Amino acid sequence: MDARRRTYLAEMGIEVWERRGMTAPQADTPTGDVVGAAAMRQRTDEACEDPGNKVARNTDNHDHARRVAAMNWDELALTVKGCTRCALHATRTQTVFGVGNREAEWLVIGEAPGAEEDRQGEPFVGRAGQLLNSMLLAIGLRREEVYIANILKCRPPNNRDPKPEEEQACRDYLERQIRLIRPKIILAVGRIAAQNLMKVDTPIGKMRGRTYSYQDTGIPVVITYHPAYQLRSPLEKRKAWQDLLYARRVFAGLA
Ligand code: URA
Repeated sequence: MDARRRTYLAEMGIEVWERRGMTAPQADTPTGDVVGAAAMRQRTDEACEDPGNKVARNTDNHDHARRVAAMNWDELALTVKGCTRCALHATRTQTVFGVGNREAEWLVIGEAPGAEEDRQGEPFVGRAGQLLNSMLLAIGLRREEVYIANILKCRPPNNRDPKPEEEQACRDYLERQIRLIRPKIILAVGRIAAQNLMKVDTPIGKMRGRTYSYQDTGIPVVITYHPAYQLRSPLEKRKAWQDLLYARRVFAGLA
């Protein structure tokens, strides 16, 4: 193993044992521990809504989806920049569109901007971002060669979980980004990203170590823990490393 990779693994808290003559660590199968069981989201607001309003809102959402689905990169970036579809626009400093190679083979999807991302306008630039960069480098990927985006383009105040209506308001943008990039693989980091992309409530621990498929595209989706969670729970870094090795094997299998 080269020194640079060893350094990154050390930063991730992964102690590497190498048998003489071995060049790579053994890839274990992820164990599937359950972390952060997902709460079922209740749409009581919708259930109580005036039926007329609901029809108008659905039509509006449908029109928005259709318009966004036809946008090119510039149109999409401009639309996101001026977006006021949910209440988060009132508290954001700026939107955080996404960053990286628009022809990337790997697309990394996180949850939502934090304070630093809101300030700089770029995803994953805080402490979690530094760990994400290290995770990617450990499997041979530089930040610039992948594309990084979030489920939400605006920061939820105090880094609370995104609300269902915020996820809904933002959904078309990420959907369009995915279809423009056409990545070979999607790495979803964290429970929110995983559950949103796959539209499930399955706990993240049960989603790890499996290959999902993004809607009708056939793009494989692999799931791992969010780097912020790994910073809070360093023991889980080992599992995240197993997930990365798994993702790399899935990617290699596509060739
Ligand atoms: N966490 C995320 O999920 N995304 C970011 O951009 C930053 C922190």
